Amino acid sequence: MKEIQYTILVPAYNEEETVNAFYDAITPVMEKIDETYEVIFINDGSRDHTAELLDQLAEKDKHIKVVHFSRNFGQQAAFNAGFHYAQGNAVIMMDCDLQDPVEVVPEMIAKWKEGYDVVHGKRTIRKGESFFKKITSTLYLKILKKITGLNIPKNVGEFKLFDRKVVDAILTMPEKNLYLRGLTAWMGYKQTFVEFERQERVAGETKFNFKKLVKTAINGIVADSTYPLTLSMKVGVMGSVLSSIAFIVFIVLACCKIVLPLTAWLFPTITLVASILCILQGCTNIYLTQIYKEVKSRPVYLVRETKNID
Ligand code: UDP
Ligand code: MG
Repeated sequence: MKEIQYTILVPAYNEEETVNAFYDAITPVMEKIDETYEVIFINDGSRDHTAELLDQLAEKDKHIKVVHFSRNFGQQAAFNAGFHYAQGNAVIMMDCDLQDPVEVVPEMIAKWKEGYDVVHGKRTIRKGESFFKKITSTLYLKILKKITGLNIPKNVGEFKLFDRKVVDAILTMPEKNLYLRGLTAWMGYKQTFVEFERQERVAGETKFNFKKLVKTAINGIVADSTYPLTLSMKVGVMGSVLSSIAFIVFIVLACCKIVLPLTAWLFPTITLVASILCILQGCTNIYLTQIYKEVKSRPVYLVRETKNID
């Protein structure tokens, strides 16, 4: 057991308008719980006054710890760093903008004390999110679930609690491309939910522009699936079957003395050549898939608990 009971982990990128509000909101909640805690802010290369404000908070309150990144590396990298520095027996990840209500933290802790290893914050209402964002994120989740085969829960974001053993398990994974939603589903353990109403940002704007969202979405697929690598083989096999059928039809027509123009033969010929190239690429991809899995070196299994074993 660690000396510190709870770590609140907060990535912050250009959050000068929200850091103080977050501090003012979380402090009374954690003080009321009356156990040891720390709040770790990961300043993800902010270019506004976030760094100075965080340093001031750290100066006046020893519960506040700050890690300043050398530049903007993204929210998932900030979580990665946070897991590394966190000392708590339970680690709670939160947005800096109070979209994740601080009152939910004690509920999450209560679930953890019941014995759950992962407690997800589940959004019942999603204020401050555009219709476009809700639709695209629902669609993306469907695609992600289909191609990864993982049971990734709906309406769940990065607001969660992890037990120490979950954080330690993540730290043993050598993979660099961390995508928490997929990884949490992959890891298993005892998981549960706490429902909450997602609030609007207390101030400022979302730090996820379209480019960042697309990058995160692609990372999410690549982190937990090698499906795109299988496409080449599938397209190749389909193309060669279709072009072979076309050849057979053309030969039958020729036998029936129906003469097709020479250019008509070009279509199945090109398709067949392209399909053979796809199949050859597909063969390379089978090895690439294996190499990718080996390089990622995820553990073969994770243990939740043992009995009568030292
Ligand atoms: N964030 C970060 N690095 C980034 C983008 C965002 O650390 O490159 C932080 C941000 O400061 C916030 C959290 O990640 O604390 C979630 O970001 P945001 O609230 O902008 O996302 P949204 O809630 O709109 O999805
Ligand atoms: Mg937010």
